[in-house]
Amino acid sequence: MSKQRPGTDTAAIQVSKGVAPQGQFNPAIERFFHRRPMPSADILEKGIQRGDRVMLGRAITLIESRLPQQQATAQELIGRCIPRSGNALRIGISGSPGVGKSTFIEAFGKAIVGEGHRVAVLAIDPTSQLSKGSILGDKTRMQGLATLDQVFIRPSPSGGSIGGVARKTREAIVLCEAAGFDVIIVETVGVGQSETAVHSMVDFFLLLLLPGAGDELQGIKRGIVEMADGLAVNKADGDNLQRAHIAMTEYTAALHLFPPKSSGWYPPVQLCSAVSGDGIPQIWQRILDYVAHTRKNGFFEEKRRVQSRYWMHETITELLHNTFFSHPSVQSALGPLETQVQNGTLSPFHAAEGLLKVFLKSMDGTPQR
Ligand code: GDP
Repeated sequence: MSKQRPGTDTAAIQVSKGVAPQGQFNPAIERFFHRRPMPSADILEKGIQRGDRVMLGRAITLIESRLPQQQATAQELIGRCIPRSGNALRIGISGSPGVGKSTFIEAFGKAIVGEGHRVAVLAIDPTSQLSKGSILGDKTRMQGLATLDQVFIRPSPSGGSIGGVARKTREAIVLCEAAGFDVIIVETVGVGQSETAVHSMVDFFLLLLLPGAGDELQGIKRGIVEMADGLAVNKADGDNLQRAHIAMTEYTAALHLFPPKSSGWYPPVQLCSAVSGDGIPQIWQRILDYVAHTRKNGFFEEKRRVQSRYWMHETITELLHNTFFSHPSVQSALGPLETQVQNGTLSPFHAAEGLLKVFLKSMDGTPQR
C-alpha cells in the first residue's frame, strides 16, 4: 500500500475562487522553479523516465507555455516521449458541477492505487478561460489522493481556446504515460464542448449522475449520455438510495433508445457512493471488462488510431489559425475589413477571402516557419 508523506497534506492543490489554478506542489516551490530557467528537453526527458513528478510537472508547464522557444522545446520533448507512451488506460470522467467528481476521483483513485497502479489525474475545465474562477479549480480538491506517492494531479491548463487547452492535456497524457503512470484520469465538467474533447482522448468515458433527476434536470445534454461507455449514479447512500435506484432504472431504459455502439459494448448504469466507497470496485471492474471486450474485437486500438488522426487534424486547424492571425499582414488588414463588414459595405465571405489573399501573398517567397 501507499505511504503518505508526513506534512504534505496542506501542500496539495488548494485553489481559491478567482485565483488561477495552481500545480500539485507548494506554490512557494513552484515560484522558485519558475524563476529558474526551464531545464533542457534532455534533462526533462531523463526526469520523466525516472518517474520524477517534479520534472513531470515542469515538463507540463513547458507544454502550457506560449513562448515560441519553449513551445519548440516542448514539441521536441513530446516527440522523445511518444515511444514510451500509449501503455496506460485513459479514463474520462464527467458530470455536472456538484455531482461528486472530485470526491469520486479521490475514492476511485485510491482504490486503483491500492491495486498497485500509478494514477495521473488531469483536467479540462472550459470555465477556466471564460471567467477568472473555474468550476473545477474552485475548491480544495482531492487532497488525500494528492499526497500519495503513486499519484500525480494537475489542474486544467488555463487560457486559450478549448481546442488549445485540450491539445495541451492530450500532450500531458503522453508525458504522464512516459513517466510510468498507467491509469490516466481526465476530468471535465459536464457543460458540453469539453466532453467532446475528453471523449476524443480517452479509452473509456464515465458519466456521473445524480440520484433521482432526469437528464434535463441534471443539465446534461443527450449527446453526452450517448458518448458514455458507463454511467454511474453517485451519492447512492442514506436518504438518496431510493432515488438513486429510480435514476438507474430511468437511465437504463433511456440507453435502450440509443443506437448500438460500434464497440459492441452496452454501457452499464451502476450505483455508487463516493463518500462510502460502495460500488467503486464494481465500476473499476466494468471498466476492465470494457477493455477486455474492446481489445478482443479490435475496437480499442481502432479508437486510438481514429483519435490520433483527429488530433492531427485539430492541431493543423489550430496551427493554421494561430499562424494566420499572428501574421503582421493579417493583423494590419483585419481592422479595416472588419469595419467594412460591420458597415455592410463588404460581405463576411469577401472579407475573409480578401484576408486570405493578403496572407497567401505575404507568404510568397518568405521562408516557411
Ligand atoms: P464536483 O463538483 O462534481 O467535483 O463535486 P464534489 O466532489 O465537490 O462534491 C460535491 C458535494 O457532494 C460535496 O459536498 C461532497 O461531499 C458531496 N458528495 C460527493 N459524493 C458524494 C456521495 O457519494 N454521497 C454523498 N452523500 N455526498 C457526496
